[in-house]
Amino acid sequence: MKRRDFLTTTAVGAGALALSGCHRADKEGGLGTVHINRGKKITLKLATSWPAHFPIMGTGVDTFAKRCAELSGGTLEIKVFAKNILVPAMQVFDACSASQIDAFHSGVYYWKGKNPAFSIFGGMPLGMLSEEMITWFKFGGGYELWRELYGKFNLYPLIGGTTGPQMGGWFKKEINSLADLKGLKMRIPGLGGEVMKKLGVNPVLLPAGEIYTALERGTIDATEWVGPALDSMMGFAKAAPYYYTGWHEPGSILELTFNKARWEKLSSEHRAIITAVSEEMSATMLQEFRYQNAKALQQLPKQVQIKSFPPEFFAAAKKALEEVLQEQSAQSADFRRVLKSYNDFYALNKPWDDISTRHLLEIRN
Ligand code: CA
Repeated sequence: MKRRDFLTTTAVGAGALALSGCHRADKEGGLGTVHINRGKKITLKLATSWPAHFPIMGTGVDTFAKRCAELSGGTLEIKVFAKNILVPAMQVFDACSASQIDAFHSGVYYWKGKNPAFSIFGGMPLGMLSEEMITWFKFGGGYELWRELYGKFNLYPLIGGTTGPQMGGWFKKEINSLADLKGLKMRIPGLGGEVMKKLGVNPVLLPAGEIYTALERGTIDATEWVGPALDSMMGFAKAAPYYYTGWHEPGSILELTFNKARWEKLSSEHRAIITAVSEEMSATMLQEFRYQNAKALQQLPKQVQIKSFPPEFFAAAKKALEEVLQEQSAQSADFRRVLKSYNDFYALNKPWDDISTRHLLEIRN
């Protein structure tokens, strides 16, 4: 960098220079002049689909914003807006696509109406766990496909956390056979909901704030949410004491998505900081979910009965899932491509996983 450029840069970025801990020697003078170019201070508006400071998911985004400010020497300010402040929770995708907001944090499978393939990026029932999903995105081609397909909406996605395995949900009545599922109304989104539909369940999608009341009044017979930590806060145990183990969201991916044009205008330093901090957020969120779920499991109310669905359920769910995947593949070339990429990575990973993780989980007890 020439001295002239350096002077121009520091004229706008003096604050960054003062706060920065990064040093770079000046090539021309060789006298070790210290400077940095993070550009002028910018502010990005990020809307979430969660209530303000919602545990783990929401607080994870709060920490993300704080870390971006810290690591950028204050030049990258990310203002986090809870759901419905700037835009309704379920309109963050459209608002970001239309450049009304700069970024959002949400769940990928909410947007399957935009492109059915998006549900696979959010996770697969009876499929890969969080760590496997992240590996697919980073090494198995998942990110390339996600960014290509989101690019058509002027969006640039990053993984914005992952929940780890989710529980199967709260039921008012015990499920001892497939017949017990017929006609049940259940709050369950994504591909899991499609599978349940084939098993005779009527899947509905309700926002967080309405689920408890619907369950308590019997408007719905069952609901899934996340896991012991977040489910306990919702009070579901009081309305539906049967708590089933999970199958439909083994490793759900949350998204931290940017308006693509805005992303491309960011300095390379700011993009690098956001990318690094998103990885930090993602790892921390998974660890926090594990820790908080483990603790909350110990503190579930006494009336809660933890159950597994009967074996015939899993046989039927696998068959129903195959049908759902075939139907979606027949209707959407994008779905076919993403599913193939997902399946290719699954096939590559499984033999190694079987003799490592699965084997260890079996023998360690
Ligand atoms: Ca869920």
